[in-house]
Amino acid sequence: MSIEQENDASAQQNWSGTYRYAAERIIAPTDAAELPGIIRSAPRVHALGTRHSFNALADTSGTLVDLTGLPDDVAVDGVAGTARVTAWTRYGAAAQALEEAGFALHNMGSLPHIAVGGATATSTHGSGDRNGSLATAVRALTFIDANGDPQTIRRGDDDFDALVVHVGAFAIVTHVELDIQPTYRVRQDIYSGLTWEAALADLDAITTAGHSVSIFTRWEGEDLGFVWVKTRLGDDTDAVVDVLLDGARDPGSTPLGSDDNVTELGGVPGPWLLRLPHFRLDREPSFGAEIQTEYFIDRQDAPQALRAVRALAPLIRPHLVWTELRTIAADDLWLSPAYGRDSMAIHFTWFDRPDEVAAVIPLIEEALRPFGARPHWGKVHAFDAERLAEVHPRLADARAVFERRDPDGRFVSDHLVALGVRETRSR
Ligand SMILES: Cc1cc2nc3c(=O)[nH]c(=O)nc-3n(C[C@H](O)[C@H](O)[C@H](O)COP(=O)(O)OP(=O)(O)OC[C@H]3O[C@@H](n4cnc5c(N)ncnc54)[C@H](O)[C@@H]3O)c2cc1C
Repeated sequence: MSIEQENDASAQQNWSGTYRYAAERIIAPTDAAELPGIIRSAPRVHALGTRHSFNALADTSGTLVDLTGLPDDVAVDGVAGTARVTAWTRYGAAAQALEEAGFALHNMGSLPHIAVGGATATSTHGSGDRNGSLATAVRALTFIDANGDPQTIRRGDDDFDALVVHVGAFAIVTHVELDIQPTYRVRQDIYSGLTWEAALADLDAITTAGHSVSIFTRWEGEDLGFVWVKTRLGDDTDAVVDVLLDGARDPGSTPLGSDDNVTELGGVPGPWLLRLPHFRLDREPSFGAEIQTEYFIDRQDAPQALRAVRALAPLIRPHLVWTELRTIAADDLWLSPAYGRDSMAIHFTWFDRPDEVAAVIPLIEEALRPFGARPHWGKVHAFDAERLAEVHPRLADARAVFERRDPDGRFVSDHLVALGVRETRSR
């Protein structure tokens, strides 16, 4: 039975309350068997995951289908090395089921609250020079297509590389099959006191310091901020370095201003699922009423690109909560921002000041233009179809696949047309 969410104001917003969905109606099915009928009866339709995107990506002029009331299922196949997860299941819940079976994922995003289907659809990433985005673990997708029929596509099939990072543009995904590996343990350490000068002279020394490394900065003078290193342990007694470039391990540090919603730090070993995300599943993550922006550049351009953004620091800082710098391994997924290039992602968490943020974003995009920066699909940016086509070499190819699979344009939205992901329709 579907629940209509038409009159509930909070039900019409994204997680941070900074985007209001324009959809004619939002429905929340409680049984996945309803999905084919919903798709067939709606001229315009779109899936909604856990609402952690910051722009109109999930929106539609028609029916928005909130999937989060559907029952979770995680089926682990240790022999095949896969887990088949319902797309609306949060990473935290999937990870718990995997851990109980003795398995793990290669990486996690900064929070475990996001749905597997929504996160992989936008190529959500954690960090690590050798870690691809979360979408790179996708081995198969099962979805209800634009005719309301179930289909499965597997790695190696035609269209697979076009469809994994699909931004909701062609179907409602019901199951995601993920690569898994034996469980492992991780410790987290904070390093502070590093300078920009030392960091820009040897960024690799920082980004290779662990399985997953994040630099948190506020672009303040010579102070880099702090470096958050997640070390994958062979044994709980494995040591980590005390000195990182011109900085040092800072065991007492409480980054991000508070430690009550952050996963355990201070070098305490723990299971991967309680260390790889920055935020705890049982607490509200991040800052709250915030806007996020993020751009991906080729890792080899990172020092020059960071210098270009640093020049804008006086304009950025007043509206910035923090910036996070992470690395992502190259992949072959057509709409992935890390397509074809080992990348660094330059992320901004902004205060909820839409006008000020809208004024500074074009300046950052102009500064990063020489580096072919690609925006995160789920965060606020000012790219249009023309500019996206300049930086996403497979955009037109992906659009052709979406058009072939959804010729009547059920999954078309104004936002996707503006980005060149789908073609314009007359009605
Ligand atoms: C506090 C916070 C921290 C974040 N941290 C990170 C981070 O560490 N790394 C990073 O890369 N991003 C991060 N993000 C961004 C976030 O991961 C992405 O926006 C992601 O898409 C969120 O998933 P969702 O299910 O909440 O998406 P939604 O906003 O609900 O949907 C995103 C897109 O996926 C589509 N979609 C969702 N489910 C389905 C489905 N079942 N079938 C078809 N289409 C579907 C929607 O139509 C839409 O196009 C963060 C966001 C927040 C709010």
